[in-house]
Amino acid sequence: MDSNSTPLFSIEFYPPRTPAGEAKLDTVHETLAALNPDFFSVTYGAGGSTKKGTRQIVLKYGQLGSNVAPHLSFGGTDEEEIKTLLADYMQAGINRLVALRGDLPSGIGAAAHHRYANELVEFVRKETGDHFHIDVACYPESHPDSTSYACDVAFFKKKVDAGADSAITQYFYNADAYFYFVDYCQKAGVTVPIVPGIMPITNYANLARFSANCGAEIPHWLESRLKGFGDDVEGMREFGMEVVTGLCEKLLAGGAPGLHFYSMNLSGSVLQIWNNLSLSDR
Ligand code: FAD
Repeated sequence: MDSNSTPLFSIEFYPPRTPAGEAKLDTVHETLAALNPDFFSVTYGAGGSTKKGTRQIVLKYGQLGSNVAPHLSFGGTDEEEIKTLLADYMQAGINRLVALRGDLPSGIGAAAHHRYANELVEFVRKETGDHFHIDVACYPESHPDSTSYACDVAFFKKKVDAGADSAITQYFYNADAYFYFVDYCQKAGVTVPIVPGIMPITNYANLARFSANCGAEIPHWLESRLKGFGDDVEGMREFGMEVVTGLCEKLLAGGAPGLHFYSMNLSGSVLQIWNNLSLSDR
């Protein structure tokens, strides 16, 4: 781990699909901006569904004074479109982005030319030099498509060698998986900061669905406990808060170079975990 860098605390949004969703996110952004996170990031629909929304939200919250990092991927997009987007972001004073392969919607994935994230990192460096701080994604419990742990780390290294400055992980609930991964990456020559992605727990059914898709493990003890709450939403939320706060404390105590919160466009859980960890005093 890069012990010289100051830990960074960031919060992720996705672009809303409706005006009502956008109005709601404006309020969430206002609430969370008061916490003074190091940056917000805004996801990007590789299939094209939310591409315009990403740009719009990034520019809007940037104008309101937040540091905002757009997520970006080639998806089915041609290079000219990416170049235009990069120019727009540079002009707006955006200096950080998250470069991804992205997940294409089923049906498009097989037909489109899938360009890996390392190709995008290379492209952004070629087009814009050192302007952007580039984050990439990584997977302490392995990416679902990967053929082996070692291959997955080798491909992660390829993104870093192409010019990525730091990485954000897929979420996980097993701190040991993160610490083992960081250690393994360091031994493989990956020395950039690897910031844990944190998913608050509020709803078991949603969490189980996401986790099945992205390959994040819900440990058996946690799953069993969460299932036990049944319809007791408040009880589950309180328990989830306790578990995730404990995970964050363990990660920071073990030297994690910050935390990246998957907010799901909600402020309550992030706010509470942030306060539990006294992050505003940092
Ligand atoms: P890559 O690093 O390209 O890797 C994809 C897979 O291919 C891995 O299995 C890897 O081992 C393998 N691989 C990599 N390079 C090669 C190569 N050269 N040859 C052969 N195999 C290779 N999705 C979105 O659609 N929009 C978002 O905004 C978004 N934001 C995310 C943010 C974070 C922090 C994380 C962790 C994930 C995010 N995702 C997002 C999901 C992500 O796009 C998916 O996990 C996707 O399947 C992989 O993206 P990647 O950038 O990690 O891909």
